[in-house]
Amino acid sequence: MTSPVERIAKIRVLLVLLLLGGCAVTAPDTPPLHIDSSLNAIAQRSRVDVIVVHYTHASLPRSISLLTRSMVSSHYLVTDEQPPRIYRLVDETQSAWHAGDSEWQGKTALNARSIGIEIVHPGWEPNLAGQRGPDFPTDQVAVVAALIQDIAARHDVAPHNIVGHSDVAPLRKQDPGPSFPWRALALQGIGRWFDEGAASVEQARLDSTGLPDARWTQQELKRIGYPITITGEWDKQTQTVLAAFQMHYRPETVDGVMDAQTAAILKVMPTTGSAVESSLTPQPGTKPDTSRNHSADHRMVHYHVQSDDRTISAR
Ligand SMILES: [Zn+2]
Repeated sequence: MTSPVERIAKIRVLLVLLLLGGCAVTAPDTPPLHIDSSLNAIAQRSRVDVIVVHYTHASLPRSISLLTRSMVSSHYLVTDEQPPRIYRLVDETQSAWHAGDSEWQGKTALNARSIGIEIVHPGWEPNLAGQRGPDFPTDQVAVVAALIQDIAARHDVAPHNIVGHSDVAPLRKQDPGPSFPWRALALQGIGRWFDEGAASVEQARLDSTGLPDARWTQQELKRIGYPITITGEWDKQTQTVLAAFQMHYRPETVDGVMDAQTAAILKVMPTTGSAVESSLTPQPGTKPDTSRNHSADHRMVHYHVQSDDRTISAR
């Protein structure tokens, strides 16, 4: 038997327990996350449509330190070792911080849409003596070419969107410099080039008719991709952007001064794609192959990407 007082006390305890039970928050069971990837939309593309080539302007140890321990980075680093090695420092699905304030073909903030390739090279300083800086070693160029071709094929990057840092940031950058062999790469079907025969004809015409004015020059540089403000004046920005154009397409003289050859190349330059098929003559010891899909057949290069030891055949 319990006394009424004890019964009331028990009831109070039961009520408190019931109230506590009612208020207690219990975490709902998290359902397991099942994602069915058996369906695939056809409306999609790679985030990458630009490849930007750089040189590090530093030794290999310093290049590695800068690109892995500071707030600049690139997807790939091609070393100056024998044979050259390729490090993958940033996965291609991620953005690397290599292009900075940049613009090409009207697209800005290129880090979000590009792959960056840094090449270990001592660099080049603009000078009036016509010096172009040290050549890139042949084996290093072969590795870079194979790497660009592999990336371009996987992401379907158009030839005119394979560019140097100086193309997309001409007022700030000079890399990869006038010794980077863009023409030799174009001969292999990599990057944009122009019809050299048509340029010669146009140059002869300009020799007799005179050079184009600043406005035409600015409009043409903008047409083919360069970031430039149309002012109609031969101002500092126009000279600097013209020098960037010369570095890529007429590296024998990089002075930012308009001449008939520069104007002719500018005029015949395709806005998109490449005119390599109809114009280039092969270098001694190579055979011409103008098909983009088969252009590396004569120069099989195999390389290893250091992050995962994957072997990619540059076919
Ligand atoms: Zn750069």
